[in-house]
Amino acid sequence: MSHTYIVGFPRIGEQRELKKALENYWSGETDFKAVKAVASTLKERHWRYQQEAGIEFIASNDFSYYDNMLDTAIMLGAIPARFQGLEDEALYFSMARGNKDAVAMEMTKWFNTNYHYIVPELSLNDTYSLNAAKIINEYNEAKALGIKTKINLIGPITFLGLSKRVDRGDTYELFGKILPLYEALLVEIAKLDDTIMIEIDEPIFVKDVAPNVLSLIKPCYDTLCAVSDNIRIVVTTYFEHSCEATRVLVHTPVWGIGLDFLYGEKNFESLQSIAHAGKKLIAGVVDGRNIWKNDITKTTQLLEKIAKTVDKENIIVSSSCSLLHTPFTLKYEEKMDAEIKNWLSYAVEKLDEVSLVSKLFFHETLSEEDKKALQSNKEANTRRATSTRIHNQAVQNRVANFSRLEREGDYETRIKIQKERLGYRDLTTTTIGSFPQTPEVRKARADFKKGAICLEAYEKEMKNYIDDCVAFQEECGLEVLVHGEPERNDMVEYFGEQLEGYGFSQNGWVQSYGSRCVKPPFIYGDISRPKPMTVAWMTYAQSKTQKIMKGMLTGPVTILNWSFVRDDMPRADVSKQIAVALCDEVADLQKAGIKMIQVDEAAFKEGYPLRSENIPEYERWAVRDFKISVSTAWKETQIHTHMCYSEFNDIIRTIEAMDADVISIETARSGNELLKIFKEVGYKQEVGPGVYDIHSPRIPTVEEMVEQINLLLEVLPKEQLWINPDCGLKTRKWEEVKPSLINMVKAVKEVRATLAD
Ligand code: GLN
Ligand code: ZN
Repeated sequence: MSHTYIVGFPRIGEQRELKKALENYWSGETDFKAVKAVASTLKERHWRYQQEAGIEFIASNDFSYYDNMLDTAIMLGAIPARFQGLEDEALYFSMARGNKDAVAMEMTKWFNTNYHYIVPELSLNDTYSLNAAKIINEYNEAKALGIKTKINLIGPITFLGLSKRVDRGDTYELFGKILPLYEALLVEIAKLDDTIMIEIDEPIFVKDVAPNVLSLIKPCYDTLCAVSDNIRIVVTTYFEHSCEATRVLVHTPVWGIGLDFLYGEKNFESLQSIAHAGKKLIAGVVDGRNIWKNDITKTTQLLEKIAKTVDKENIIVSSSCSLLHTPFTLKYEEKMDAEIKNWLSYAVEKLDEVSLVSKLFFHETLSEEDKKALQSNKEANTRRATSTRIHNQAVQNRVANFSRLEREGDYETRIKIQKERLGYRDLTTTTIGSFPQTPEVRKARADFKKGAICLEAYEKEMKNYIDDCVAFQEECGLEVLVHGEPERNDMVEYFGEQLEGYGFSQNGWVQSYGSRCVKPPFIYGDISRPKPMTVAWMTYAQSKTQKIMKGMLTGPVTILNWSFVRDDMPRADVSKQIAVALCDEVADLQKAGIKMIQVDEAAFKEGYPLRSENIPEYERWAVRDFKISVSTAWKETQIHTHMCYSEFNDIIRTIEAMDADVISIETARSGNELLKIFKEVGYKQEVGPGVYDIHSPRIPTVEEMVEQINLLLEVLPKEQLWINPDCGLKTRKWEEVKPSLINMVKAVKEVRATLAD
């Protein structure tokens, strides 16, 4: 008997069926029954996949119409007042997406993944009550198909840790209110079957856990385990180690503990205490968040290492986390290069990996098919390890020896020269790079990709866009111009497509939030830049204006964070390769006459490790690689960067160390409160805090932007300030962008006039 376990399965559907069903329902084309029907089909299909692969522990309640945190809020009756009176799906989707009377609940990233969850809103005064319907129905749904599932729940401590208090204060103060509801839920679950297993996810334990939170673990799990004899509880964590929590959990009656041994190597330190307590160990050894084929031999060795401490019969082989973070199946990858495809494994393929690893580890007799699978797994791994497509000696040598970190001149010297050469004024107006992506531009790109139009026609279309875009910027009086990014579908994919070592999938969709999916490109080999990537567009755009045209690149850390990254090399080394490729682009742009270059690091902050112990190392290479990418810049070339957030309190020194001449950031919604840190630490470089919110279709008035600029001037001197929207404009319409920018320029004129008085 093998012991195989899957933390959770993706739910959007291998052809994104759920996405389509939801969007049809939202647009009023179908009713909710249609969504339910699709959901049932998907749930059954996903359970069957796992069953057929021989997975023993299959989850229910890993499904969701939108998000599992939202489901948990509903389960606890944590409904914000503005949604009272609504019921069922109307309530559910209003909470997720807002309605005409009530704004949606906030959404934020699930740990360090690109999945977003809905942030529950709690208050000390609210009363909560249990609604177990979804959980019970889903269990029974699987049972009716002959599949006995484990029930997945988000644990109370994680639920509280990820929620926010609308009445301010600590969410953990609600622990005493919430725990009884989980108890009541377990009472209901206990009635469902003779014996029943519950997986309680507590990923919050992988962050730096505060003592007051640690102290909740024992009462929480003592209480929940005492609810009923027929319940077995597994507490699962992922994405990092959870050593502090495990030390406590082993002293509770939980049946098993689920740990991630791929992204939380330190979990090995917990083995002794798990063994001592005689707990089951759900060993996360098959990567649940990357797309590489498992190395079955290596994974079996990893398990053997674990088995030196924990009894073999107490070990269960598992995915490292929910497979939600990987695409569905390689079945639809028809265009992918066969050699590269053979290196990959998506969710469905990972099921077989878990199964095969377990058979080997438990010395089961292998079927002929298993033997073949094992053989081809070995071959694929050997081929990948030795493939010339991965290894580029020239790149490796150059990157290993690359030591130029500092660009020419220190900041003070540079900025003086730049101000003279570029001749820009205080409160210079600019934008973040992209302008509205029109249907025509999207179509031209798609047609060109399909081969429906030739290169010439495509370039003409892009150049027309650039012409219009530049003309508009001139007309409205913006001072530093951009080309508008019409050639880019996405700020990472565009660069990935031009770099060696990058691969793309046809159907590698991963859920990002709600019905939205992303299709990240993947880095499989050493990265190099065969030829300039943006120079032709930039010089064309520059030729259309006397004003300064700002070059536009995506930074190494952001490229890395929004891709699947090879697992045979440390992330830091991959990042350095990208940085070296980018520094050549900077050099080429500069040689071609571009005087100002922006290197976007939209994902710099989200790349931060979950544990503070790993932050110094991350900052070391992330800053290093930003600096490498601009290390070729002359002192007269002005380097900008852009980041999509506003909380810099913890990282301001690191941002400063990146040594960009100008940074634009996303502060429009948070006022100047968060900006104070720049003043407090005596931040020297120039800053464009973002004077209006581009995430809303609203057109800001001149008055409100004047006010906003005046607020900024209270914190930073005019010499240090740039004026710009708070992010790129590509998701907006021209009808929104034009008046907004016209108003922004007017606002600056007014403020300049008052400053001159
Ligand atoms: N230059 C990019 C743009 O304007 C930056 C986008 C981003 O930071 N997310 O679209
Ligand atoms: Zn941004």
